[in-house]
Amino acid sequence: MKSVDAHLADILATVRPLAPLELEVEQALGATLAEEVSSPVPLPPFDNSAMDGYAVRAADISEVPVTLPVIDDVAAGSEELRAVGPGHAVRIMTGAPVPAGADAVVPVEWTDGGTVSVRIDRPVQAGNAIRRAGEDVQAGDVVLKAGTLIGAAQLGIIAGVGRRRVLARPRPRVVVISTGAELVEPGGQLAPGQIWDSNSFTLTAAVREAGAEGFRAGSVGDDPAVLLDKLDTHLVLADAIITSGGVSMGAYEPVKEALSPLGTVRFEKVAMQPGMPQGFGVLGDDQVPIFALPGNPVSSFVSFRLFVRPALDKMRGLPGGMPETVTAYVTGPLRSPAGRRSYLRGVLASDGTVSPVHGQGSHQLAALASANALIVVSEDVTEVAGGTEVEVIRL
Ligand code: AMP
Ligand code: MG
Repeated sequence: MKSVDAHLADILATVRPLAPLELEVEQALGATLAEEVSSPVPLPPFDNSAMDGYAVRAADISEVPVTLPVIDDVAAGSEELRAVGPGHAVRIMTGAPVPAGADAVVPVEWTDGGTVSVRIDRPVQAGNAIRRAGEDVQAGDVVLKAGTLIGAAQLGIIAGVGRRRVLARPRPRVVVISTGAELVEPGGQLAPGQIWDSNSFTLTAAVREAGAEGFRAGSVGDDPAVLLDKLDTHLVLADAIITSGGVSMGAYEPVKEALSPLGTVRFEKVAMQPGMPQGFGVLGDDQVPIFALPGNPVSSFVSFRLFVRPALDKMRGLPGGMPETVTAYVTGPLRSPAGRRSYLRGVLASDGTVSPVHGQGSHQLAALASANALIVVSEDVTEVAGGTEVEVIRL
């Protein structure tokens, strides 16, 4: 059997970062910057008021209370400004440019709020409540490095330096297909022997949680020809494909039957539980990676976490690899098959303990849904006593 690490290494050696595209800012959330972003201007671009209040010369209000004439009113966006002469005040709003002559802003709360003249009750230091030009960014400064993942705040600074488009690796488009003649769309009636398709929903959601775009292409029964047809339809728009089911040792294994003859997809046994049967390879002229995951719901979920997610990270131009683990004390005994790495479902608590959930079968999706962690038991360990320190992957 192939080790989990060797299988992941093969996958990561095959998948490539997606080519960068000029993305509209609106489309860039979750993309990875492929250029350095710098600011053409200082930010803020001009000295402006940090508060609603009065622009004054600080020396004029050293003795308070003092009443000054209000010679102008400046809102944010004002262009024409009258200079503040000695003994003058200008009513000013947050974000408005500070007029020439003024060296401080007095918050409105420290005044009587007058519009013709204003009584100021507290003195301020020169520079008070003024946001200086270039305080955040100097003209030409790099605000984001290449390789940065674009989240909301990063998107904000891209727009904040005036950019409409940005060169970035887009989120991979991932098509999810489930196989199985027993599958029925949720919402439909179950005939004897049927179950509702859950994997295509789980995997599409997992793709989205991983920062990629998931397209659920539904389920195709157990006919290899129908699967090939479906793959053909979706290959054009896919950066990666995930299938579930049809990869094990029985008869009616449509994924194995359809893809084995192509010679570009390998089906192997990986030394893990759950999720031993795994297929991986590439399809079509564009060498689109395909992950043929096992059908049991917990198996396909764990396989996604271990193999697909790091591959998607690499496609996005992010550092990928084995999921990070934390250590915790297990609250009860664990069993694991010799020679296979186990990923047992557990609940990680804030006190640093992890409790295995009831129901560790690879079909027990409800048990998975009650867990928030996978407890890793290495290949050479078959029994773990309660109270032992274990490695845990947070979900
Ligand atoms: P397979 O890998 O196709 O042999 O399927 C293994 C087990 O997983 C069987 O019990 C299937 O019924 C179940 N299974 C396969 N695909 C799905 C799916 N999309 N949703 C829920 N269960 C599935
Ligand atoms: Mg099947």
